[in-house]
Amino acid sequence: MEYDRLQKSNRREFLLRIGIAGVAASITSPGAGRLFAMSQVGSNISLPALPYAQNALAPVISENTVSFHYGKHHQAYVNNTNKLIAGTDLEKAGLEEVIRKTAGRQDQSTLFNNAAQVFNHNFYWNSMKPGGGGEPQGKIGERIKDSFGSYQKFADAFSNAAAAQFGSGWAWLVIDNGKFQVIKTANAETPIVTSAKPLITIDVWEHAYYLDYQNRRADYIKGFLEKLLNWDFAEKNLV
Ligand code: MN
Repeated sequence: MEYDRLQKSNRREFLLRIGIAGVAASITSPGAGRLFAMSQVGSNISLPALPYAQNALAPVISENTVSFHYGKHHQAYVNNTNKLIAGTDLEKAGLEEVIRKTAGRQDQSTLFNNAAQVFNHNFYWNSMKPGGGGEPQGKIGERIKDSFGSYQKFADAFSNAAAAQFGSGWAWLVIDNGKFQVIKTANAETPIVTSAKPLITIDVWEHAYYLDYQNRRADYIKGFLEKLLNWDFAEKNLV
């Protein structure tokens, strides 16, 4: 099947990359992907370590999905960003500075897309935790009720935004002008170049769920809300 073929060819490519990097001894270790990812020495923009093991989000998001999504897609955005800023006046800039200085500039769209995807993915991994999800308590719980009427109304708004994003993109819980809102962005677009401050995001690019759910994006969104959403991270972002 196409899926099996894809898995095998990606594994071959991965082993080849690891081999070239000269860390063949770690091929069979579960941390091999991370070790390779962290070996991008001397680059300005780095791939942050995941805040949990690659299998920690299963069964909602499988280890296989995290391995490709983090180890391949996210890593590629980091690599591309570093290549594109090398030798330019943004070479030493921080990630958010690169994003803000390239936003809305036609001639910088490739750099913006890659840098914004680095930020969005950094934010996405932190928006989840094993054993998360469900109705939040405390301060954030109160704010959700005040803003949406009830937790269920928030969950419906977030699910609808994530499901309705046509093609690739993101759904977000943001705080804008003191008000909680659910928004969606297309492709690499990110709220950090607007007045809105992100609290939580979900990636709805197909690479985020297709290995596990194929076309059933709604089931992935449901799992995210019920089992993974990291309300502690949302609360930290409120400050
Ligand atoms: Mn992604």
